[in-house]
Amino acid sequence: MKLLLRLFVLLFATTIVGQTTYLHCGKLIDTKSGKILNEKTVIVEGKTIVDVVDGYAKPKSGTVVDLKSKTVMPGLIDMHVHIESETNPKKYLEAYTLNDADVAYNSLHYANVTLMNGFTTVRDLGGSGVNVSLRNAINQGKVVGPRIFTAEKALATTGGHADPTNGAKRSLLGNPGPKEGVVNGVEDAKKAVRQRYKNGADLIKITATGGVLSVAKNGQNPQFTLEEIKAICETAKDYGFHVAAHAHGDEGMQRAIKGGVKTIEHGTLMSAETMELMKLYDVYLVPTISAGKFVSEKAKIKGYYPEIIVPKALDIGPKIQDMFARAYKAGVGIAFGTDAAVFYHGDNGKEFGYMVEAGMPAIKAIESATVTNAMLLKKENDLGQIKKGFVADIIAVEDDPTKNISTMENVVFVMKEGKVYKQ
Ligand SMILES: [Zn+2]
Repeated sequence: MKLLLRLFVLLFATTIVGQTTYLHCGKLIDTKSGKILNEKTVIVEGKTIVDVVDGYAKPKSGTVVDLKSKTVMPGLIDMHVHIESETNPKKYLEAYTLNDADVAYNSLHYANVTLMNGFTTVRDLGGSGVNVSLRNAINQGKVVGPRIFTAEKALATTGGHADPTNGAKRSLLGNPGPKEGVVNGVEDAKKAVRQRYKNGADLIKITATGGVLSVAKNGQNPQFTLEEIKAICETAKDYGFHVAAHAHGDEGMQRAIKGGVKTIEHGTLMSAETMELMKLYDVYLVPTISAGKFVSEKAKIKGYYPEIIVPKALDIGPKIQDMFARAYKAGVGIAFGTDAAVFYHGDNGKEFGYMVEAGMPAIKAIESATVTNAMLLKKENDLGQIKKGFVADIIAVEDDPTKNISTMENVVFVMKEGKVYKQ
């Protein structure tokens, strides 16, 4: 009874306090139908979109936001960021110089920049565990940032792309195991997934092949057995987690797809055969063209990356956009994702331009960053659309992106859960 009373008071209070906002939208992107609608009013109450009506509704009370000269769309979702860190020439020392508190303060800045550039939701694909605390603090409204779904610590095999001690001298190598995200064998695989659950992860990330930025020689070799990947994916299912697989090489990619992952990250050397496999297993490609472009540019600057990384960056970086063009044409499902941290947080919107340059229509690129990603995160009834009952994550850009895609790099209005962060 006491509880019922409290619930009633709470509901009553939010109705009174619940601020109503009327967004007058010159153009509004319907991400479900792929159409651009003209002259609409989006009505927001509290955290929710309560209606979308024709014309510019004139309210008796509440706030009106004039976006008549803008193009309005749902908050964007980036499926591949690392919110705890960012590229810089001293990055490889940071494992030995930064305390968790430094990482935490830095991550506040990256989260803020990400939100201000229109990304109201991100999938974080691996860090140290600060990402879990950051997600919680944002959800509690204590700090400003996008909604985060995090893998906590990415899983690797010994010496693999996400082995945290790669490149260290022998006395610092230690013997990282499932607790630290290093897996060798089926039992380790299960334990590593369960440890992520215990640590507060929302999903699992594996590094199915070598990678560009790890201090290791090979950027594309397979690094897990099929049995290990199967064990990870099956265990992940018990906890409602999906699995994302970093992969550049084709063999590792095939094992990941057959093993049960939901997304392939990068996909650089994907063969035509593997593209068919992607479709057959309903696995989505997260292209990260931005990361490829950035590393191949920076690799030309002497000393920006350790020597062992340079040839990998020069080889793999430039190939991603071309592979993306072929994968899109072949009908592979595309989930927008950038790998922000490999380049500067906040520049995520550049990816739209790269996708369009490779032959994907602007509206399809925006769909991939909204409805598609919402579906992959199992939030298709809450996020990714401006529709009655959906969460009020709404952004606006200056121009019509179907005529000028670079406008996606200049987000002028940001609302997350009904609260305006940029106007
Ligand atoms: Zn990444």
